[in-house]
Amino acid sequence: PRNIAVMTSGGDAPGMNANVRSIVRTAIIKGCRAFAIYEGYEGLVRGGPEYIREMGWDDVRGWLREGGTNIGTARCKEFRERAGRLSAAKNLIDAGIDALIVCGGDGSLTGADVFRHDWPSLVKELLDSGRITEEQYAKHEHLNICGTVGSIDNDMSSTDATIGAYSSLARICQAVDYIDATANSHARAFVIEVMGRHCGWLALMAGIATSADYILIPEKPASSQQWQEQMCQIVSKHRERGKRKTIVLVAEGAITNDLVPISTKDVADVLINKLGLDTRITTLGHVQRGGTAVAYDRMLATLQGVEAVEAVLECTPNTPSPMIGIEENKIVRRSLVDAVKLTQSVAEAISEKNFKKAMSLRDTEFSE
Ligand code: ADP
Repeated sequence: PRNIAVMTSGGDAPGMNANVRSIVRTAIIKGCRAFAIYEGYEGLVRGGPEYIREMGWDDVRGWLREGGTNIGTARCKEFRERAGRLSAAKNLIDAGIDALIVCGGDGSLTGADVFRHDWPSLVKELLDSGRITEEQYAKHEHLNICGTVGSIDNDMSSTDATIGAYSSLARICQAVDYIDATANSHARAFVIEVMGRHCGWLALMAGIATSADYILIPEKPASSQQWQEQMCQIVSKHRERGKRKTIVLVAEGAITNDLVPISTKDVADVLINKLGLDTRITTLGHVQRGGTAVAYDRMLATLQGVEAVEAVLECTPNTPSPMIGIEENKIVRRSLVDAVKLTQSVAEAISEKNFKKAMSLRDTEFSE
């Protein structure tokens, strides 16, 4: 491939800009032309010079530290349909692009995988309907696709960390530190909701890093009675020992073992009614996504950008699409299809109430 495009998709994450910068500049260093697809799959489906723009070295200057994604991101219904993917294929071919690197979460990478799978039949259809020439067909029979994982949730299998997770974790810890001071002053309890969708990583790691009294995550659900009793017992013990403040972190995906969502209000009600604590609820919300990328995310995004460009340059039509991960501090290439499947099987195990399986799948992910 000589014309490499990069796009960011799904939820934004700090470090996505660093990843785009790295991909653009690595492509240029390797003698390729670099393109950015603006607004995620939406831009791919719409196409044209407004959405598909060539990027020069200077276009990404200063992007290393910036939060969010400067090339935009969107959620796109049309790309889930074949008709949308057909337009996307036509737009890529018209722009002369032969490799696509997608930085996004598991949804976006599932989309990338579906796109690569459909590609041969999409280009055939475009040729048969006269929308592309024989010459274009010959040049674009294959599309090289590579995924890098941009997500604050750290919910992707086959990688120890996703781009953005450590920035978000740092922001959460900072916010909890602020709350600590006021909680301590008034001897109050705070119930804090933390992002992460169906993954408890942010809540769990933030809880360890701020010494929260109790943490509720989706991967280790208990019955309503069990978590309420356990939380009250632990919080009471801490109070008896003279601790003036109570911090409970609730992952946004926290559930009971009957799959009933646990809200911050449910938790606050228990602290008020059973322990009589002066309790407040704080939902951190989108501050968790904002701000500059921490050093780890800048490093991860940069190294993975280099690896992603190398991967698409080395891919043959028979190579499975790679996903760039990090395992035991080494940047690695993993099968995109397998990573997506394994990630989905954790969610499936939870929905089937098979928590042991979900935990073991997560463990494999951590220890592999
Ligand atoms: P994230 O990447 O953060 O998990 P989403 O799950 O919203 O975010 O996915 C982002 C976009 O990826 C969707 O809006 C859609 O355009 C595309 N996408 C997700 N799943 C599929 C799929 N199964 N087939 C095709 N496209 C998909």
